[in-house]
Amino acid sequence: MTGPDTHETQERDAIIVGAGFSGLYMLHRLRALGFSVRVYEQASDVGGTWYWNRYPGARCDVESMQYSYSFSNALQQEWQWTERYAGQAEILRYALHVAERFDLRRDITFDTRVTEAAFDETAQRWTVAFDDGTRASASFLIMAIGCLSNARTPDFPGLSEFAGKVWHTGHWPHEGVDFSGLRVGVIGTGSSAIQAIPVIAREAKHVTVFQRTPNYSIPARNRPLTDDERTWWRANYARVRQSARREARNGIFADYPVKGALEDDDETRRRRFEGRWEQGGIPFMSAYNDISLDESANDTAANFVREKIGAVVKDPGLAALLQPTSYPIGTKRICLDTDYFETFNRDNVTLVDVRAAPIERITAAGVRAGGTEHALDAIVLATGFDAMTGSFAKLDIRGRRETLNAKWAEGPKTYLGLMIAGFPNMFMITGPGSPSVLSNMMVSIEQHVDWIADCLAWLRERDIAGIEAAQHAEDQWVAHVNEVAQATLYPRAASWYMGANIPGKPRVFLPYIGGVPVYRQICDDVAAKGYEGFALTPRHRAAAE
Ligand SMILES: Cc1cc2nc3c(=O)[nH]c(=O)nc-3n(C[C@H](O)[C@H](O)[C@H](O)COP(=O)(O)OP(=O)(O)OC[C@H]3O[C@@H](n4cnc5c(N)ncnc54)[C@H](O)[C@@H]3O)c2cc1C
Repeated sequence: MTGPDTHETQERDAIIVGAGFSGLYMLHRLRALGFSVRVYEQASDVGGTWYWNRYPGARCDVESMQYSYSFSNALQQEWQWTERYAGQAEILRYALHVAERFDLRRDITFDTRVTEAAFDETAQRWTVAFDDGTRASASFLIMAIGCLSNARTPDFPGLSEFAGKVWHTGHWPHEGVDFSGLRVGVIGTGSSAIQAIPVIAREAKHVTVFQRTPNYSIPARNRPLTDDERTWWRANYARVRQSARREARNGIFADYPVKGALEDDDETRRRRFEGRWEQGGIPFMSAYNDISLDESANDTAANFVREKIGAVVKDPGLAALLQPTSYPIGTKRICLDTDYFETFNRDNVTLVDVRAAPIERITAAGVRAGGTEHALDAIVLATGFDAMTGSFAKLDIRGRRETLNAKWAEGPKTYLGLMIAGFPNMFMITGPGSPSVLSNMMVSIEQHVDWIADCLAWLRERDIAGIEAAQHAEDQWVAHVNEVAQATLYPRAASWYMGANIPGKPRVFLPYIGGVPVYRQICDDVAAKGYEGFALTPRHRAAAE
């Protein structure tokens, strides 16, 4: 690594990369423990996901009373969420509030992208290089770089020749976009597109949606929260948060059934699905406990949703195109919507099935698909992210023996999704091999941050300079992650959980599907056994080597 050394003068305990919800809480915890810490963030402010994804309709799909920090009771009692599912602007305001409230900004350097990181075995330190050519070093490196932070722009031929504007949902302009009078093409029909299309269609002259794979979507039933509801959550937070951490597979407090879908007769099952459909949201997927495990059970839920789509969309041909049939429901991240399917009844919305009529190229005037030119003034790329590993792949991270990109060439290998053999003293928050994107991320983020903070305090107490995942522990964990995934229906979908949205990316099931409570227990047990599966290097030995 070359370049001036402006940050090097400070011998820090830890460097955190990223100032989203993970980085903010990590900074708060480590500072409270008396560690010297600096956060580096490429954006100009805090918020991560909610800083970047400002597209119309962007909002969370875990209810805000649960998609929020639990570490400060005063914070959760005082913050006033206005809607059942807060919009992007409100979630960003919350992140800004947290930064202010806990005085976090003074230890964050913004507008600074980490480009490289290398471990110096002699000094037992990480040196990190930034895009401005400067460097910094610390004993511990904590990657809080996000699972869905590397927006993916497909390389359609001709994209740069398009005469109109092109926006990616994951890099939305801060000043917003006025769609009035525009013919807009939306490429993609994943979660972001499903949120954005109804809002854009209300404003634009015409919207052409380019769909490769239809998605299952459940009505969000978003609405303002009442005072009574907020009061209930606040009064019950202790119990609710505990249940989300210790009982709910996906980290979301809900009413979980103890029976499978086929244990009910048709009519009872339909009533149950209707109830969950009316209630709205992700809990639809836990109407029964075997929807993600058993194909016949899954079919009952998938058929129900397909029927609902058929009932909403007036044109039967269009309805058929919007009904997913090629993968089990829930094996791609379930989407929540407000009037998504209804939007296709509008006169100003057209659906192009790019499986039948593939996009050939972008021209100056629009998109050519299946030999037809669709004239457009603007294109919205709702093409998702290189999930979980994408932000790592962009970095040149050098461990003891090799680079991370070399090590992960055939898919990510981690121990607990927290550390990597050959990369001592480097932690990941919600890394591949942990429940992360299969869960309420707030629950998973807090769990990882607490585990890492407790670990660093434990090491300091014992004068241990280095911690590294042992190869055998990593091998066993990777095998376990795969084994658990194979026992479910998830690998049946060509999803971003599998890396299938990125050409050339290895097909590996990225998150750990064993559930939040089981995973937490494993992590707790590992710590209780003196960090079982990790090699520890005492400070005097590190100094002698
Ligand atoms: C549109 C959308 C909606 C979502 N809704 C939900 C939801 O309802 N519920 C849920 O549980 N999860 C949801 N998620 C997932 C969401 O990403 C997490 O909930 C959470 O915000 C992640 O926080 P984080 O801090 O771990 O990562 P991020 O918020 O992604 O933050 C990572 C930060 O690291 C920075 N960074 C990355 N690389 C570098 C580098 N090399 N140098 C410097 N900085 C870097 C990025 O700029 C970013 O600010 C959603 C994601 C998206 C995209």
